[in-house]
Amino acid sequence: MRVGIIGGGISGLSAAFYLEKERTKGVPLTYVLLEAGNRLGGSMFSEHIDGCLVEGGPDSFLTEKPWAANLCQELGIADQLIGSNDAQRKTYIVVHNRLIAMPDGLMFMVPTKILPTALSPLFSVGTKCRMVAELLHPPRPMRNDETVAQMVERHFGAEVVDRLADPLLSGVYGGDASDLSARAVLPRFVDMEEKYGSLSRAMLAAHNKMKAVMAHAKPRPLFSSLRDGMQQMIDALLERVDRSALRTGTSVQSIALRDGKYDVTTSAGVESFDALVMATPARVAGKLLANVDGKLADDLRAVQYSSSVTVTMGYSMQQLSGLPPGFGFLVPRSEHRRMLACTFVHNKFPHRAPADKGIVRSFLGGSKDEAVLSLGDQEIESIVRAELKAILGLDAEPRFVRIYRWRGAMAQYTTGHLDRVARIEAAVKSRPSLEITGNAFRGIGVPDCIRTGQEAALRLSLLAANAGQPAR
Ligand SMILES: Cc1cc2nc3c(=O)[nH]c(=O)nc-3n(C[C@H](O)[C@H](O)[C@H](O)COP(=O)(O)OP(=O)(O)OC[C@H]3O[C@@H](n4cnc5c(N)ncnc54)[C@H](O)[C@@H]3O)c2cc1C
Repeated sequence: MRVGIIGGGISGLSAAFYLEKERTKGVPLTYVLLEAGNRLGGSMFSEHIDGCLVEGGPDSFLTEKPWAANLCQELGIADQLIGSNDAQRKTYIVVHNRLIAMPDGLMFMVPTKILPTALSPLFSVGTKCRMVAELLHPPRPMRNDETVAQMVERHFGAEVVDRLADPLLSGVYGGDASDLSARAVLPRFVDMEEKYGSLSRAMLAAHNKMKAVMAHAKPRPLFSSLRDGMQQMIDALLERVDRSALRTGTSVQSIALRDGKYDVTTSAGVESFDALVMATPARVAGKLLANVDGKLADDLRAVQYSSSVTVTMGYSMQQLSGLPPGFGFLVPRSEHRRMLACTFVHNKFPHRAPADKGIVRSFLGGSKDEAVLSLGDQEIESIVRAELKAILGLDAEPRFVRIYRWRGAMAQYTTGHLDRVARIEAAVKSRPSLEITGNAFRGIGVPDCIRTGQEAALRLSLLAANAGQPAR
């Protein structure tokens, strides 16, 4: 069986790696990966500048999601995994240009400790009263697919949407709490509300249960990364797949189904495959599959995306002497700034910068500021430097500046997302030779992309093994 993988980000490369594993076990399959760009890895990209490690896209992954660490294990680079410096984990919210630490006991956006929340200047007295009243919320099943903003506002009020929910979600999804689906983005909250009513009581119960289970377990860092950056995972993948099967600079333009085979038209000509793994953003997959399955294509095209700009600035530690401890800060929309978030990279992970240097990485864009992508580097740098000066008092000339633009990179799980995904999954299931992977369905982060690539590869290798065709 000949498999075409379209898209060479982490999803497509994971599919290639797990297909390669099956092929070396004797499953009769071959594969070719077609990537439009000139490099592989998609939004995973790291480089070294001035002795510092600079991440263009993701800088880490959630440790609790096992697929990325498992892949590193299989790639033989598990000894390169590093954990975030959680002892220094402190995140600030910008309120009227001041940094206010998120209070202790805040779990995602739910308060679980009374005293630190009561004393925190992050919330008004009115919000603190709402938080106390929230403890009495009755259990309630969610009938309609509410937005995160609607759900959080029902529990804690509009201030918590503005100061916590929205900035936290724009950090993870580049999205807006008033667009994102509570069911898709915070399924645990929806379950908790149904069972307990109060999210604070539910979180506390879950936390206590977890504490009992974890009492004897070694504590794990919240985030994991690789010593030499996320690119290390891409480089290790490239070492393990069939390099002759990877074609960069090959943009897929259309796909047609003919006699049970997929004819794939690329910038280099037409190729025929028995099976396909779509590993592009969903909107591209939708466009490409329009002549294969119109309904599936419409659902794929309906997944919205937001864009992101990351701006990394390197400094000497002397220049950063006024920087507070912690991982960085989030900027609520009500502050009317272009910056959404900022990470103090050298605090978050070890080995990112030499001891005498520090790295500050800012995020702009998101679903409400697509326009920032069209600005020139100089203009983006000026915006970030002006905002860092206003928020941190940081006025020093950076030693280097690196700007990366990620257009349409982050899928938005808007209301109706889970119904759409169920339809997409049903359509894909009805075509065993077609797989669709990526961040547009049931998990936006790197581990879920790896999981989708692995699952696609395993289903196709089973198909190949059952078909028992000799490899061509
Ligand atoms: C700035 C930023 C920060 C992030 N931070 C984190 C983080 O810290 N932790 C985390 O877990 N996740 C993070 N994410 C999310 C995560 O990085 C992505 O979800 C993941 O990398 C997506 O991988 P992918 O392979 O599905 O898609 P992509 O990386 O988008 O790859 C898709 C590939 O398809 C190719 N392609 C498109 N069209 C065609 C075509 N017609 N023909 C051939 N090829 C085509 C593209 O060129 C691209 O290489 C971040 C994302 C961004 C943008």
